[in-house]
Amino acid sequence: MFITFEGIDGSGKSTQARLLAEALAGLGRDVIRTREPGGSPGAEEIRALVLQGDPDRWSAKTEILLFTAARRDHLERTIAPALAAGQVVICDRFADSTRMYQGLSRGDLRGLVDDLHRLMIGREPDLTFLIDIDPAVGLARAKGRQGHEERFEDMGLAMQVRMRAGFLALSQEFSSRFKVIEGDRRPDAVAAEVLDVTLAALRA
Ligand code: C5P
Repeated sequence: MFITFEGIDGSGKSTQARLLAEALAGLGRDVIRTREPGGSPGAEEIRALVLQGDPDRWSAKTEILLFTAARRDHLERTIAPALAAGQVVICDRFADSTRMYQGLSRGDLRGLVDDLHRLMIGREPDLTFLIDIDPAVGLARAKGRQGHEERFEDMGLAMQVRMRAGFLALSQEFSSRFKVIEGDRRPDAVAAEVLDVTLAALRA
């Protein structure tokens, strides 16, 4: 089963991905945790190319190609082999992040993102958790983080608000695989709900 976590910066999705992986491993499940952008050696190199250095180095369309190339490598080298081996794959961000960030943040490029996804990726997760939080809380958390790589914090709250609305709209567009989780709670309470939903999906 292929499970992804999505949400705005500072939503707690990375913590939740880790807690779910630990809980499933504790229950004897064969599980791997991975992330995007990145998740394979080549894709991690592309991550560094995109997230480090001058934010205007790449045009919006080139950036979509780079993210899609990274995802293709990640899918081929990490995700598909793990799924074929029967592992549960837990991924921190996937194509929905590109639909939001590359699709919405620098003009309306969602159509291009979707076209490339169809051509080069063609795989959606089985289950996607959207960790939904107040954008102001997310921004404060993201800014307080050590060694953070957040790209949009300078654009501030307006950007967080837009992305949150976009993710919620996406959860309706792909309602059969999305589960929206209220993230403004203690991490262990969020984790308990995430685990319940996952175990039910694994039994189904
Ligand atoms: O999820 P993570 O914190 O590793 O993401 C690092 C940065 O890259 C964040 O600011 C995130 O918004 C951004 N990002 C992006 N496009 C994506 C995925 C992440 O701009 N498709």
